[in-house]
Amino acid sequence: MNVHEYQAKELLAQHGIAVPAGHAALSVEEAVEAAKKLPGPLYVVKAQIHAGGRGKGKFKELGADAKGGVRLAKSLDEVKDHAEEMLGNTLVTIQTGDAGKQVNRLYITDGVDIAKEYYLSLLVDRATGRVAFVVSTEGGMDIETVAHDTPELITTFSVDPAQGFQPHHGRAVAFALKLTGDLNKQAQKLAKQLYDAFLATDCEMLEINPLVESEDGKLLVLDAKMSFDGNALYRHKDIEALRDETEEDPAEVEASEYDLAYIKLDGNIGCMVNGAGLAMATMDIIKLNGAFPANFLDVGGGATTEKVTAAFKIILKDPAVEGILVNIFGGIMKCDVIANGIVQAAKDVNLQVPLVVRLEGTNVAEGKAILNNSGLAIVSADNLGDAAQKIVAEVKKAA
Ligand code: ADP
Ligand code: MG
Repeated sequence: MNVHEYQAKELLAQHGIAVPAGHAALSVEEAVEAAKKLPGPLYVVKAQIHAGGRGKGKFKELGADAKGGVRLAKSLDEVKDHAEEMLGNTLVTIQTGDAGKQVNRLYITDGVDIAKEYYLSLLVDRATGRVAFVVSTEGGMDIETVAHDTPELITTFSVDPAQGFQPHHGRAVAFALKLTGDLNKQAQKLAKQLYDAFLATDCEMLEINPLVESEDGKLLVLDAKMSFDGNALYRHKDIEALRDETEEDPAEVEASEYDLAYIKLDGNIGCMVNGAGLAMATMDIIKLNGAFPANFLDVGGGATTEKVTAAFKIILKDPAVEGILVNIFGGIMKCDVIANGIVQAAKDVNLQVPLVVRLEGTNVAEGKAILNNSGLAIVSADNLGDAAQKIVAEVKKAA
């Protein structure tokens, strides 16, 4: 789960980390009120969307010369003008895709006199199973670009969980940032605070880009991106409450309400499968047969008729779907129960696209008979390969 920059900064501040003062705003009036609470005279108006690259982003509705999603303001009037231009408009950045994201929230924050920008992030490194630090003197730009063009300017190391964060980790961060004197001490302290905050919140990724050195010699978190382990959210009701569903794919939000694991993809064949492994195999075999899956969908072990119907509806909301492949192994659930669910769901949603069903497991003969006698144009398949071939052929036929 992702949160907005201002929410990430509030969480970091709760862990004692220095962030510039600021307030979120949902309207132009709130933006001006927020600015009034800050000392001024330099303010920054920042679009709050779940995507980076806002500074260099462009608003769809504004001209090519208009400023991006991070704007300096030298007066309350300028804060008002920027808020008016940004709220409700669509910001396109390198991370949003062409569709962009509508800006519904702003963050009004203190302007900082920046001496230098750095990069610092922590993430769960799956390869080592540890929390890793990624540190670079090259801040304020896309870290992927830095990694590609000048990998020697990036330092990475991980922390042994049995040892935990040690003073030498702090020194390694400060050294990689090439900081001396008091700034070096500040970096060591910050590294420890970030590590502690990361663990305490079950964070997956915490990226500070840029971390800045101000003209008056302070290290400050100027931008912060945090994402959290969805499976650990039950332990953090306060973080769960920060979820902004308007930033998420509506189909994925609906799926989570039914406890379905759904991820939208770019292809044209909708998939409904039980078990994540079988779902992955189904997607692979669709690709092997020359087509692309429209989604990943795991209905789970105990798929009920309601769940199957909800899954059908979610799959069909995607206008790119030209056919559906159902691949269910009836282990805990019996195939006849599943078949009834599929027939009911297909009738409920008035299914118009080809449907291929592969059932296997307990009571498979009864299940297939239910599908065949349903009066619906359901194509039954015998195995995974057969199912994939059939749905690809059916979609071609229908086109
Ligand atoms: P994004 O990464 O989405 O473009 P950032 O928050 O990193 O957004 O802002 C982009 C750039 O804007 C920063 O690299 C920094 O140069 C400048 N900036 C951001 N916040 C401030 C601030 N509070 N004061 C001064 N400059 C800022
Ligand atoms: Mg940034």
